Amino acid sequence: MSTEKYYHTNNQGHLTIGGVDALELTKKFGSPLVAYDVGQIRRQYQAFATGFEQAQSPYVISYASKAFATVAMYQVIKQLGGHIDVVSGGELYTALRAGFPTAKISFHGNNKTREELIMAVKNHVGVIILDNFYEIELLEEILTETQSHMQVMLRVTPGVTAHTHEYDQTGQEDSKFGFDVQSGQAEQAFIRVQASTWMTLIGLHAHIGSQILEVDGYQLEVQKLLALVHEWSQKFGYQPQVLNLGGGFGIHYTAADKELPAQTFITQIVQTMRASAQEYHLDQPAIWIEPGRALVGGAGYSLYTVGSRKDVPGLTSCVAVDGGMGDNIRPALYQADYEAVLASAPAAQPRETVRLVGRYCESGDVLIKQVSLPATKPGDVIAVLATGAYGYSMASNYNRVPRPAVVFAENGRAQEVVTRETYEDLISHDQSYQLK
Ligand SMILES: *Cc1c(COP(=O)(O)O)cnc(C)c1O
Repeated sequence: MSTEKYYHTNNQGHLTIGGVDALELTKKFGSPLVAYDVGQIRRQYQAFATGFEQAQSPYVISYASKAFATVAMYQVIKQLGGHIDVVSGGELYTALRAGFPTAKISFHGNNKTREELIMAVKNHVGVIILDNFYEIELLEEILTETQSHMQVMLRVTPGVTAHTHEYDQTGQEDSKFGFDVQSGQAEQAFIRVQASTWMTLIGLHAHIGSQILEVDGYQLEVQKLLALVHEWSQKFGYQPQVLNLGGGFGIHYTAADKELPAQTFITQIVQTMRASAQEYHLDQPAIWIEPGRALVGGAGYSLYTVGSRKDVPGLTSCVAVDGGMGDNIRPALYQADYEAVLASAPAAQPRETVRLVGRYCESGDVLIKQVSLPATKPGDVIAVLATGAYGYSMASNYNRVPRPAVVFAENGRAQEVVTRETYEDLISHDQSYQLK
């Protein structure tokens, strides 16, 4: 089976996660359950780091925490020595509660509120990534009022958008994020920020897409950013300390995704950066990247229990599990594809092709349209693979279903890092209405 090298089994032939039997996990922590192989997160981080170290390039790996943001996750990144991106007061709050070093936090977003910017300034986050003119003025106001200094980057849209297998090269980019380069808005923002006494522009940021499986989009991004830097160095004598290339590194969801090793991405990106910098007689800036999916996606598993089944002659049978779009909305939201295995026998010969459906009251609540599985019966545990990114972080209480627990497993031991919501949690913010 094509998924075989993407999971591990024990001597009973059961699926294991971080060395722990998946059936033991659901027995102990309940179902549905989100389980992470923490070693896998560490290995992915290390693969990116090794790429930079072998190429002898200064770098920062900043985990895009929107992919999966919890106290425990921030602790793991802190231990690895990485930085993080946050995109809201809530993510910032979680990171602060996790004891994450504030100097290693980058604050992103296209509509940060005044309160969020004040929170970022007060807590001395490392860098705010400026997205638009309104925000520049808002931040300038806050910094002036509080007499504070802040490092900033400008998010620019250099006109490269990468998709899974190809990229578009356009002049103006039709994105809600960042300053457009071609129309001169980026330069206007540059001039405005350079005039500020409170802001220090440490570099430029761009993000070209997600689930990218080829390096050429990044190479084009690097060339475009360096061409821009060259222009600004000629006109204004500017030399950035940092070029932040964003995230988007793709992972293996199904056999259709040819995952490029992290190190390969980095080696080729550094090469392109060096060549371009040399061409323009610039010092090579430090390279920052912001992987989200690539750090946590492949490390995460969604464990579900099989319940009902619907068979109609001539149609694909539906096998229903006890979770679905409430804990993983990606299939419903953007037709994301996944593979699944039977946790008790992931390597067993498939017996049938079924539709794996969720328990939510929506026809679109389908986890996998077509999946080949051995025979299943109620009570069996099915693992959907590579659900670690944008699964739990997008979870909702739709249908008033409590969100699952999350466990971290490593070296044969598992620990609950988010407890399962209770019915009481569901109504904890409800207030009764004084009926007239
Ligand atoms: C979402 C996002 C990322 C992470 O994207 P992945 O595809 O998860 O790697 C990185 N940077 C920015 C600015 C983002 O918006």
